[in-house]
Amino acid sequence: MRSDNRPVVLVVDDDPVNLEVVGQILADEYRVLVATHGEQAVTLVETVPIDLILLDVVMPGMDGYAVCRRLKELETICDIPVIFVTAIREEQYETTGFELGGVDYITKPVYPLILRARVKTHLELKKNTDLLRALSHQDGLTGLANRRFLDQTLALEWKRAVRRGNSWLSVILLDVDCFKKYNDSYGHLAGDATLRQVAHALQSCLERETDCVARYGGEEFCCVLPETPLAGATALAERIRKAVWGLELPHRESDVADRVTISLGVAALIPTRALTLEWLLGQADEQLYLAKRAGRNAVQGVELSATTLVTSFSKRRS
Ligand code: GH3
Ligand code: MG
Ligand code: MG
Repeated sequence: MRSDNRPVVLVVDDDPVNLEVVGQILADEYRVLVATHGEQAVTLVETVPIDLILLDVVMPGMDGYAVCRRLKELETICDIPVIFVTAIREEQYETTGFELGGVDYITKPVYPLILRARVKTHLELKKNTDLLRALSHQDGLTGLANRRFLDQTLALEWKRAVRRGNSWLSVILLDVDCFKKYNDSYGHLAGDATLRQVAHALQSCLERETDCVARYGGEEFCCVLPETPLAGATALAERIRKAVWGLELPHRESDVADRVTISLGVAALIPTRALTLEWLLGQADEQLYLAKRAGRNAVQGVELSATTLVTSFSKRRS
């Protein structure tokens, strides 16, 4: 029996005989989908998850190069490896294929062993690249997104909100209270374990797929909340504060409570070209500072507009 998690290979060729031949060569190891013209290939790629594409160059209508160009324009699918398969053995054709972002070029007639080897190589390369990318976005200690991913996400969400217009964006900056004393009292390794538990609690508080939580640095974390005004963001911040409180992690040296607590600063605004992401983050940091000054284990929030601070939110409870 074949397992269902085999990689999916899309074969695009206007000649049914070629489709049959290539399909047979790959059928043992891969799930093979076929398209008989360029438009059909693009539609398939947009609707079905595909791991690799074998693309004929010469086809009536949208040829292989046009298909490749189109795929590379689409954000979510531009990374799918494309191998051109064609009867044309000309340097210029091959070069064009690579210039358009193809990863390999195979000439017809295809030799089964060579085709299988190349498909396997490029699927493995893609898997490793994906893995490396995922790791490069991850914080090693907590498993949350790291600062690099956070910076990318913030920039992306800011641009999206500006483009959409009239769209709220909130950030929460949070910091573990009296954590230096925690390390001094329980040791750095226990501190690490606590950061992992706090991170896990944060993650489990987020409900929307578009929300992102990342380790900002040290014992500080940041949540990015697209399409979320201040009320929603402060409600989430309160949930997070309570979740960490609910972990009941003892902290005998804390100035605040008998357990590990966090302070949170929230800032919300509607991004426009006149405003900056740095300002939003700076204001969230300011709110975090106010939460610390108000006694820690607290949420402070502010709604921002171009000229004035419209409303502010302050809450502290145990
Ligand atoms: P405050 O309530 O004002 O935030 O006080 P604090 O002690 O938490 O703040 P401070 O900035 O003085 O100290 C932060 C501490 O967090 C010191 C640092 O050793 C610790 N820390 C930062 N990153 C890590 C980490 O990865 N692991 C551990 N165990 N500790 C860390
Ligand atoms: Mg800190
Ligand atoms: Mg701290």
